[in-house]
Amino acid sequence: MNYRHAFHAGNFADILKHAVLARVLAHLGRKPAPFCAIDTHAGRGLYDLAASEATRTGEWRGGIGRLRDAPLDAAAEEVLAPFRAALAAVEATHYPGSPSIIAALARPDDRLHFVERHPEDAAALAALFRRDRRVKVTELDGWLALPAFVPPPERRGLVLVDPPFEEPGEFERLRHGLAKAHARWPTGTYLLWYPLKDVAAAEAFGSQLAHAGIPDILRAELRVGPIRADGPLNGCGMVVVNPPWTLEADLKALLPALAERLGQDQLGHGGGRFRLDRLAAEAAAPV
Ligand code: SAM
Repeated sequence: MNYRHAFHAGNFADILKHAVLARVLAHLGRKPAPFCAIDTHAGRGLYDLAASEATRTGEWRGGIGRLRDAPLDAAAEEVLAPFRAALAAVEATHYPGSPSIIAALARPDDRLHFVERHPEDAAALAALFRRDRRVKVTELDGWLALPAFVPPPERRGLVLVDPPFEEPGEFERLRHGLAKAHARWPTGTYLLWYPLKDVAAAEAFGSQLAHAGIPDILRAELRVGPIRADGPLNGCGMVVVNPPWTLEADLKALLPALAERLGQDQLGHGGGRFRLDRLAAEAAAPV
């Protein structure tokens, strides 16, 4: 287990992931019934952008650094509002990990379950939320948690699955993990993050999901530079199963603006690129 998110926190990939996560949380918060948010690969929850890990890579400068410079266009900013609210809940010198974003947007009766396998990060996460009665932190293999912790008693909510992709077979684990969890809780919203480095593997993942018999799947991808299997991470994607009905339109407004702002100008067209499509249609309503 070499991966430490502190080196990457706040990079372009976090921006896509956390903007989508925040949007889904805002939607869940519109109905009064409590929800449960499960984060299977949670990290340590909060990252100091002046710490040596962050300054060594400087990745955050190409992500949150660029977003902080100036607002996007009005339509994109409207979509980004919940994410901006979660950013405002932490000090400007820090970047919130997914648990902090979830905690900032959840309400007093919502329940949050964060899972992290690295003992040090799990301990830091538990310390960060020690006074938050909504939060449970479990040091565990997230792949075990994924099927085991669903469905939550609330039967409303989301599962974020954000593995480090440091071991081979992560796409398969993601696909099989989703299939198992979805069989137990078909109405939950699942957010799956993946890297775009091995484009063939990412494409195969998409087409296998499209034929998995799971309805209602949206895919959003962002590329900020040329994609090479042996190069730096320059692209990533999010698959959202059972997205809020507004999410596709939201991402149509947000993704072009994000691609333009976060693109590294190596792709032509003055910025990055995006893709937004449906891997599976909504299930037909019973007649
Ligand atoms: N979700 C976090 C966020 O958005 O702020 C970042 C997560 S980072 C990409 C992946 C995390 O998964 C790392 O903190 C790593 O220690 C942890 N991890 C690696 N293998 C794991 C496993 N099998 N189960 C749970 N956590 C794992």
